[in-house]
Amino acid sequence: MISEPTCVFCKIVAGVIPCQKVLETERALVFLDICPVNLGHVLIVPRSHHTHLAELDDADAAHVGSLLPKICRAVLSVTGASAINVVINNGRDAGQGVDHGHWHVIPRFPDDAVHWPWPHVAYPPEGPGPLRERISSALAGE
Ligand code: AMP
Ligand code: ZN
Repeated sequence: MISEPTCVFCKIVAGVIPCQKVLETERALVFLDICPVNLGHVLIVPRSHHTHLAELDDADAAHVGSLLPKICRAVLSVTGASAINVVINNGRDAGQGVDHGHWHVIPRFPDDAVHWPWPHVAYPPEGPGPLRERISSALAGE
């Protein structure tokens, strides 16, 4: 397991900094966000340090994926939320502030202060085909 001495979430995993823990597994911690978007906002944090989703260990990715449905059920039932956003910010330009990758599970309510949808852009004149081919080829090379 990777641990970065200066990382705030590694310090939480190590028990050096406290958190409001709701679930602990062999690979991940789930705790209340210290500055929630809505009440009941939790973070799913793999124990092992990684920064970007592109660097995440497959087993940790699968494990976090397996936790998502039950975490959503618990947050929905406790908060009475009508909906949920699951968000991962990867990199500064995407809004990542803590460089230890994590999933936000954010309960949503009718007419809350959270804004969606994001803006959209148009495909170039040649359409989506070239982009589809490039991403598909990149995946084939993985
Ligand atoms: P992000 O901007 O996606 O990196 O999100 C980082 C999140 O971590 C923010 O929502 C913060 O409120 C939250 N956060 C930062 N420090 C702590 C902490 N010590 N305990 C709980 N949540 C934290
Ligand atoms: Zn870390």
